[in-house]
Amino acid sequence: MSNSTGCAACKYLRRRCAKDCALAPYFSTSHPERFAPARIIFGATDVSRMLQNLAVEQLNQRANAIASEAYRRVRDPVYAVQSNLAETQAQVALHSVQQQQHQQENQVQLENHQYNLDNTQQFGLDQGPSSFQSPPNFP
Ligand SMILES: [Zn+2]
Repeated sequence: MSNSTGCAACKYLRRRCAKDCALAPYFSTSHPERFAPARIIFGATDVSRMLQNLAVEQLNQRANAIASEAYRRVRDPVYAVQSNLAETQAQVALHSVQQQQHQQENQVQLENHQYNLDNTQQFGLDQGPSSFQSPPNFP
C-alpha cells in the first residue's frame, strides 16, 4: 500500500500497480489528464479490462484509441451522443452483471444529454468532476 508511483488507472482503482502493469506506460500518474476522460467515458475498470492480455502493438494502439476517443467525447458531447449507441453495445459485451447497473445509469444520462441538446446545445460533463472542463497539457 506504500506504492505511490502506480499508474493513474491503478491509483484510481486503489489497487497495487504491478511493475509490468499494462496501463502504466499510457496512463501514468504524471499525466492524469490523459486518464481522466477515459475514466469518465469508459470507466476505470473497463479501461483496465480493455487493455488486458494484448500484444504490445495492440496495446499501444488500443490505449491511444481509448485515450483519444474518450477525450474527443468529453470535448464534443454531440459526437458522444451519436456514438453512444455503439458504445452501449460494446459495453454490454464487456460488462458483468454488476457493471450493467452502471450501464443503466448511462442510459439515463444519455436521455439527459438529448434533452439538453434540444434545449441549450451546451452542457457540461454529467459524469465528471467539473474541474475537468479544460484539461491542461493534453497532448
Ligand atoms: Zn497500473
